[in-house]
Amino acid sequence: MDSPLLSPAALDLVQSLVRMNTVSQNSNLELIHFIRDELARLGVSSRLSYNADKTKANLFATLGENRAAGVILSGHTDTVPWDGQDWSVPPLGAVVKELPEARLYGRGSADMKGFIGVALSHAEAFLNSAAPFAIHLAFSYDEEVGCFGVRELIADLREAGIRPVACIIGEPTGMVPAIAHKGVYRYQCCVRGKEAHSSLTPQSVNAIEMAARLVGKLRDMAEAFERSEPRYEGFDVPFSTVSVGQFQGGIADNVVPRDAWFRYEFRDLPTADARRMQSEILAQARTLEVAMRKVAPESGFSFETICEIPSFLGSEDDPVTRLAQRLSGQSRATQMAFGTEAGIFKQSGIPTVVCGPGSIAQAHQADEFVSLAQLAQCELFMQRLADLQSMRDIG
Ligand SMILES: [Zn+2]
Repeated sequence: MDSPLLSPAALDLVQSLVRMNTVSQNSNLELIHFIRDELARLGVSSRLSYNADKTKANLFATLGENRAAGVILSGHTDTVPWDGQDWSVPPLGAVVKELPEARLYGRGSADMKGFIGVALSHAEAFLNSAAPFAIHLAFSYDEEVGCFGVRELIADLREAGIRPVACIIGEPTGMVPAIAHKGVYRYQCCVRGKEAHSSLTPQSVNAIEMAARLVGKLRDMAEAFERSEPRYEGFDVPFSTVSVGQFQGGIADNVVPRDAWFRYEFRDLPTADARRMQSEILAQARTLEVAMRKVAPESGFSFETICEIPSFLGSEDDPVTRLAQRLSGQSRATQMAFGTEAGIFKQSGIPTVVCGPGSIAQAHQADEFVSLAQLAQCELFMQRLADLQSMRDIG
């Protein structure tokens, strides 16, 4: 494949975005206002939808207001932090190095400011396009901590009556269209027992032991998936997984613990159902509570949802997949090992595909980078999108 060259304007925009600190725990408003102002210079107005305390916003803009609703180019603006990581370049430096290949280094360069910057650099081309449909930019907050922002963004679109016909999410897939990933469902379980001197166990409810019973249930479920769940080939692990990530409880060797808590996750296949997995856990908790409450009526389990990111399953036959293949020059489609906002867009009725520059192997790592060749491929993708002429091209 002959490699196109990245335009200085696109590189410049990507670098500007990488230099802004948008770690999820911080505000993303500097970046959102920057994009809003870039678009305003072209006469394009942006819709901003905020989180509860107005420290973060999603941005949605339509390039071609007087045309039919068209294709969303979507990305999340937040990044993971770099605490404790061993970087050889400044994480916000947006340094370009030429060897071993031309690369732009920085937190968020692959995940996913490269895509956002290249998309933004084509705003004018989309505005001037002869296509009968609009291009929409949708940039969200808080993806990395549970895909919270995009739900507000989609609700805002619904309220405004904007109905795009397709969505391309630029998560790093090496510019190969991706049509499936597992879901990520995380929960916290708090166990309240009854404290006692450890010589008087019959008068107590041991919170750690009750928690452990549920953890054992989670482990049983994990083993059952590994043993007998129908396989979905193409994933690194072709069955649903369950994992307990944190567990705490107890204060001393001779005190029956009153409190314990743990956090766990399900990563369900697109053909499985994490909510049903969670209801199995809830049912087991209700069963255990019967005996616990005979000793201490106040004892029991409580659950909190940390995040629920639905799995995603498109098809090679979806018009949006074919569109992404045509724009990327790829004839295949791949699957992802990571969660994205794709399932949420699809659930809202918008056909979706994931295709963006860079590799997930570099995302979240020290010395995250995106190659300029990948950004150039992304630029070509955008140019081809701007060149489309017919509604039929997008489904
Ligand atoms: Zn991402």
